[in-house]
Formats: sequence, structure tokens, C-alpha cells
Amino acid sequence: MDKDRENKIDSRLENLNLDLLVAKRSRLKPWREALTMAAIYLLIGGLWILLSDKIVTFIFIDPEQLKIVQLYKGWFYVLATALIFFCIFKKTLDLYARSVDYCIDSYDALSQANDELLIINEDLRIEKELSNQFFMEAASIIIIFDKDEKITHYNPFAEKVFGFRRDEAVGEMAYNLLRSNQPIKRMREMFDDIINGENLNDNELQMLCKDGSYKTILWNNNYLHDKDGNVAGLVSIGTDITERRQMEERLEHIAYYDTFLEIPNRTYLNIAMQEAIEANKEFAVVNLDLDNFRHINESMGHRVGDQFIATVAEVLKGLTRKQDLIARLSVDQFAFLFFGEDQEDLMIWLECVMSRIRCPWQLNGQRIYVTCSVGIALFPQDGDNVTTLMQNSDIALYTRKELGKDGFNFFKPEMYERTLKTIEMGNELKVAVANEEFILYYQPQFELSSGRLLGFEALIRWNHPQKGFISPGEFIPLSEKTGHIVPISEWVLKEAIRQRRSWEEKGYQPLKVAVNLSGYTFTEASVFERICKILDEMAVKPDEIEIEITETAVMMELDAAKEALTKLKQKGLTVAMDDFGTGYSSLNYLQILPIDVLKIDQTFIQNIRSQKDETIYKTLVELAHAIGITVVAEGIETAQQEAFLIQNQCDIGQGYYLGRPVPASEVEDFLLKQVN
Ligand code: C2E
Ligand code: CA
Ligand code: CA
Repeated sequence: MDKDRENKIDSRLENLNLDLLVAKRSRLKPWREALTMAAIYLLIGGLWILLSDKIVTFIFIDPEQLKIVQLYKGWFYVLATALIFFCIFKKTLDLYARSVDYCIDSYDALSQANDELLIINEDLRIEKELSNQFFMEAASIIIIFDKDEKITHYNPFAEKVFGFRRDEAVGEMAYNLLRSNQPIKRMREMFDDIINGENLNDNELQMLCKDGSYKTILWNNNYLHDKDGNVAGLVSIGTDITERRQMEERLEHIAYYDTFLEIPNRTYLNIAMQEAIEANKEFAVVNLDLDNFRHINESMGHRVGDQFIATVAEVLKGLTRKQDLIARLSVDQFAFLFFGEDQEDLMIWLECVMSRIRCPWQLNGQRIYVTCSVGIALFPQDGDNVTTLMQNSDIALYTRKELGKDGFNFFKPEMYERTLKTIEMGNELKVAVANEEFILYYQPQFELSSGRLLGFEALIRWNHPQKGFISPGEFIPLSEKTGHIVPISEWVLKEAIRQRRSWEEKGYQPLKVAVNLSGYTFTEASVFERICKILDEMAVKPDEIEIEITETAVMMELDAAKEALTKLKQKGLTVAMDDFGTGYSSLNYLQILPIDVLKIDQTFIQNIRSQKDETIYKTLVELAHAIGITVVAEGIETAQQEAFLIQNQCDIGQGYYLGRPVPASEVEDFLLKQVN
């Protein structure tokens, strides 16, 4: 109740001093007092009648005097009685008037107190309704226990969460109905603690529901008091945090597990490694990477790729000894902690794993073959902390990949320097891409029969701020591994097409520009779209641009290559096969792929020495011409080479003898000279 109102009522009731009133009333005896008054009056009146005449006649003998005295005596009597009556009436009526006043005041105070009480009553009714609504509608469990731990109230939300109905719950002992994952004895102790004022709040318990499931409930308790302030019961408010806890567990799981394969991830591995280091257990970090998984992914699709990785992971899990650990580091890279000091055990196990990987896998109804590369670092020999051990196992793996995959390598300190250089270059490449530290050189291509300039091949250079010019042979293969090839290719395409546009605007004769595209990018659909977009933006016709791709790039994914080249050709671009004669030199590709130009590699041109070489060359050119392919000879360094090629139907020539690759400004000088 409102304190203000309480005070008001108190002060009103104070005016009604009932005790005083009762005391006064008990002293007031109307009958007795009236009789006493009447008796006194009777006595005095009687005595006056009896004695006054006798005294007067005794003092006054003269009849005249006596008559006057008698008259005065009569008047005196009347006056005295009138005075007495006045006093008595006055006193009585005063008392009456005071009583009436008091009654009026009391009535006033009572009616005001009544008004206040009515207001309080209304407030109480609202409060009761509110608390009832809260109890019924709250999205929290509300259970009230008496001090003997018996349930007296149990709200609908509690019914919903636990499944027990209200009639099943009310009247039950707390721990008979509400079981948890704790033994009943412990629950009883907890309840007693709470009743005794300990651990009132934030008690998290797994509560058993009617259907046998457990729910995580966070309990907060409050006491109920009787009017004397003693604890009469307990209100327990429970929040169902089952979902929150499950979510937290899930998040924790995500933090330490690879959610797709359900095996530990890098974080988990690092923690396990740290623990092993602290316990000074000898172990090997075995870093295993599938060779050429990308091709499976690209040729068969990501879904099949994922399915394959899941199968491999299952097999690897099966091959992991109980005491060891397997974790996934990236898409197709796994790491093991192999415990024990015996390297022979490790070698036997490794052989077993690698030969299992080499066995044919059934995938999508196809039989496929895979190999893996493995890098190993040992604790404590190769590092005394997680970072160094991981890095060294990576270096060993990287070295293995460089040496030709399908095998394993233990870390050796010599590997460090070489890999470090590559890593350094990889980091610098990142900066180079951001700062566009590249420049395109252009090497002319001539029609051999007429000597006419036909176009240029765009060749990238990296203008390193400290190291100067770096040739593409050094950084393109690395950029293909690091993924920087994608932004680099985009830059080359844009720059070459822009340059082509600029020459056209300057009025030079129409010249073709050939751009090299790495096998890692040209099959991507987005690259085709980018080429189309750049051509549109620069308003350059597709037939003014040639795309060079290598045989090895095509070989990796023949179907994807065919599709990509067909799209390029349909768009109107010219497609050239580069470096022919260095790889497999499969004539088959010339027939199945939509190729316009064949570029015979410089090593091939420079090595035509014997009759046999000449015959091979001639057959190749004949075949190419027979299926409508133009032949370009690369790396012409001498006049003899040029003469031989002219004589033997080679269409186009390119090489230091005819013109070295030069920056765009020099190309313009050259073009100007031609115009003049
Ligand atoms: P490539 O496509 O076969 O380019 C021809 C290479 O031979 C160029 O080397 C060129 O400078 C060189 N060359 C030209 N004429 C002669 C000659 O008469 N004698 C000798 N010994 N060499 C000659 P470069 O510019 O160092 O490029 C090397 C390779 O780097 C290229 O081989 C190409 O595969 C790749 N590359 C160059 N630019 C790019 C690019 O923009 N993107 C991609 N993906 N690769 C590129
Ligand atoms: Ca080329
Ligand atoms: Ca080439």
C-alpha cells in the first residue's frame, strides 16, 4: 500500500480517540446523576420551605416588614432555582453540543478514511489482477513453494516447459516432481540452502521433463514473508535456457571442429599440440595435402568434390591410431599428431596411409586416382612451439610438392631459406597486386611472307620497387599457387585492351593484341564475362584480341577448356595454343579444340637441326593448315631460322631477331616510323 495513504488514514483515525470516548461514556451515568440532582433539589427545597419561614418570622416581627421580606424571599427562591436550572441546562446542553460536534467530526474522519480505503482496495485489486496475469501469461516458469517445500502455485509456462499439468504439480513436494540431473539428496540440500538464504540466484540445472527429456533452466528465487516478516515460502522463477546453451555448445563446436567433416580443426589441433608440448610428449606433425584435388573439384563439380573429401576424411579417420589426432587444415589438407618416438612406426603408418590414398576411389560411378604429398616436422627436434612446428611441417610439404608430389618429406633446416624466399615473394606479390606494380611489354608479330606487322603479344613485367624488373617466369607460377593470378589476369586483360583502344584512337593500322591467360583462370566463367565486359567498355571488337593458352592448361581439364574456348570463339575472339612442342604436343587437341592459331615453341624452332626435325615440323604445319589453323613460330633469333620458316609455309613469326618485347611507348615510336 502507498505509504502516503497509510499516513493519511492513520492521522484521520487518530482524531477518533475511541479509548477516551469509552472512558468518558463509562463515567457518564444519566439516571444516577439525574436522581442525585433531584434528591439534592428536593432536600434543599424542602429545607428552604421548612426553615426559611421560621427564620424570617423569628427575625422580623413587624408584619409589614415580614410581608416585604417574604416577597424578597420568594424572589430569591425563584432566582436561585432559575440560576441552578440555568447551570444544569447549560452544562448538559454543552455536553450534548460537544457530543454532536464530536460525532460530526468522527463521521467526517471515518468517511475520509473510508474513501482512502476504497482507493487502496481498488489498487490492491489491480495489483492482484496484474500479478495474476503475470503469473498466468509470463514467458518464465513461476513456481511457488511453501516453507515445507511443497508446491502451492505452478504457472502455465511451467506446464509448457516441464510437461507436468498444474493439478499434478500443486501439492507435490518440490523434489518429487522437479527432478534434475543431480541426485535427489543433492537437490534436497540445494533447496535447504536456498530456504536458509544461500545460493538464491542463478542456479543452473538440467531439469527432467515429463517426456524424459532434459531442459536447462536458470533458477532465481525470492522469499515470501508472512505478516510478521518470517519466511513463509519461496517464489522460484525459471528461465528456459536450453536453446541458448545448445547454441553456445554449437558455437564451441564450430570453433574447434570442422563442421562439414566433424573432425577437429586447426584451432583444436593447435591446442592439442600445445598440451603435448607442455607434457613433453614426443610427436610428429604430419601435414597431408591431396595432389591435384582442384581438378576433381573443377571437372566433377564442388558437390562431388565435397563428397570425395568426406570419403577421404572417413578413411583417414579410420587409419588414425587411438592415441593420435586428425584435423582438417583446409579444403584438401589434413594434419595428424602422431605420438611416439619411434620413427619406424611413423614410416610404416605413413606408407599405409599413402598407399591407401593411391588405391582407386569410386566417385560418381567413375574410378579415380589420387596421390598425396606429406610434410613432417618432429617435436622437439624441429621446433619447440606450435607456430614453428606447423610452419616447418608446411615447409616440408611445400618442398615435397615442388619435388613432384606423391611422397613425403621430413623437415630439414635447408628447406627453410628457399621456401622463405617464395613466401616473401608471395607477400610482395600481394602488395604488387594492390599497387599495380606491373607493366605490359609488347612483342611484334609479322606475316613472314610479306614482312607485314600484324600485331603484338602482350607480356607482363613486374616492376618491383626495390628489385627492379622481375620476369613473368619467376612470379606467374607462384601467383598461380597463391591465387594472385586472378587479379593479375584481370589487370593484364584490361591494360592490353585499353592499349589496343588507344592505338586505334591514335590512328594506327588495325593491329591484333595477344594476351596470355593462365590455365588457372581461363576456365572460370567469370573471366569470360570480364573479357566481354572490358571489350564492351572499351568499345574494342573481339576479333582484335587473341587469347593464348598453353597445352598443359588445356590438358588439366579438357572438357572445361573446350567449353571455355568455344565461348571465347563464339564471342569472336581468336584463340591460340601457346608453347606447342614443349609438352605432350598432342595433335589430338588441335582437332578437338576450337583453335585458330598454333604457336610453335621457341625450343622447337631453335632445335630444328636434323632431317627428322624438319619432317616433324613440316607435317605439323601441313596438318595445322589442313584444318584451318594459322601457324606462328616463336623465338626466331636468326636470319637462317626466319629463312627456313618462310620457306616452309610458316604464317607468322615472332622473336628477338624480328623485334624484342618493348614498352607501349616504344611500340608507338615504331608504329610512327612505319606510318612515315
Ligand atoms: P610465352 O607466352 O611463351 O612468351 C614468350 C616468351 O619468350 C617471352 O618471355 C618472350 O620475351 C620470350 N621471347 C620472345 N622472343 C624470344 C627469342 O627470340 N628468344 C628467346 N630466348 N626468348 C624470346 P617472357 O616475357 O619472359 O614470358 C615468359 C612467359 O611468361 C610467357 O611465355 C608466358 O607463358 C608467361 N607470361 C608472360 N606474360 C604473361 C601474362 O600476362 N599472363 C600470363 N598468364 N602469363 C604470362
Ligand atoms: Ca604466349
Ligand atoms: Ca610461347
